Amino acid sequence: MSFKSVIEQWPVERLQPMYREATSADVESALGKDDLDLMDLGALLSPAARSYLEPMAEKANRLTRWHFGRTISLYAPMYISNLCAADCVYCGFSVRSGNKEKRITLKPDLIRQECEALAGMGYENVLILTGEAPKAVTVSYIAEAIAIAREYFNGVSVEVYAVDEADYRQFVEAGLEGVTLYMETYHQPTYGQVHLEGEKSVYDYRIDASERAGRAGVRNLSIGALLGLYRWQEELLWVGLHGRHLQKQCWQSSLSVSFPRLLHTPERFAVRDLVRDADLVQGMLALRLFLPEVGFNLSTREAASFRDKLIPLGVTAMSAGSSTRPGGYASRGVEVLEQFEIEDQRSPEEVVRVIRAAGYEPVWKNFDRAFDQV
Ligand code: SF4
Repeated sequence: MSFKSVIEQWPVERLQPMYREATSADVESALGKDDLDLMDLGALLSPAARSYLEPMAEKANRLTRWHFGRTISLYAPMYISNLCAADCVYCGFSVRSGNKEKRITLKPDLIRQECEALAGMGYENVLILTGEAPKAVTVSYIAEAIAIAREYFNGVSVEVYAVDEADYRQFVEAGLEGVTLYMETYHQPTYGQVHLEGEKSVYDYRIDASERAGRAGVRNLSIGALLGLYRWQEELLWVGLHGRHLQKQCWQSSLSVSFPRLLHTPERFAVRDLVRDADLVQGMLALRLFLPEVGFNLSTREAASFRDKLIPLGVTAMSAGSSTRPGGYASRGVEVLEQFEIEDQRSPEEVVRVIRAAGYEPVWKNFDRAFDQV
């Protein structure tokens, strides 16, 4: 059964009462369980759970240490193109964003320069990103970029447009380890309102993309909703459902969840469902209790001081020293279009110091691949 057919059974009308009508007794019951169901997740996302953030944080911290130890992996995003033929109204790369800044696609030698710059900063895990321009930034080009990056890094993941299973297989053959693919919003009517042009506007194709990647042998699947497009409680209930579905269907892949939150948007788009810091904290804690063995990624979209506070609440991977423009590491200062402004501008060394001060060990290397070969 595809996730599309699962989510159809969980419309808003069925999810809303789970968090709107939950009582303190429901929250306490969820907190007392090891294996939570969707009703429990709803209770933990409810207004009633707001006075239970402390016990939720204690449990989230304990579960994360049990499954991941006191470690936080470091990764860097590497944009190789800012071309995009899609129109997602919240994104600076959109073909209709009105941005006049330069758009480029890195040639192989420039990809190498980026890799050298990032490897020089100590990174062993990179996330390759592009917009959606499949005629110019083809599947073969992305596969070539993966193969180049594998010469420098132990772990290579992509956050690119959704592709067919055979294409994901081509990426795996080139050395791919992970696919990050956010549904942005699981709410189909909202999805249609914010994705106006391009293949990304096809909800049904995107929603099952992570599963196609899992079937193709991708070892780490990363999912999430772009918080702010629709109500965060429903989005996180759907993320929870999606996570459980992928754990069953793609049991050979590990799973991680990200919590991207819309902070800066182009002028033509205003965030409709603002997600406040306390909402994000509650959402992360609730999902950690629902999906205890899943990795949580935290990007530099969030401010430094807020990221520092989130470290003990279930985070297992962080980016640092990030650039969201192609060529942004080897040629810092070159003016090409960036996707969004990052909030946490600290260097990797500064982030490492903060992670250590919080009592965690920063991990540059991903050991999974070595275990693969045993
Ligand atoms: S979100 Fe992705 S597909 Fe949409 S406009 Fe931005 S880069 Fe293009």
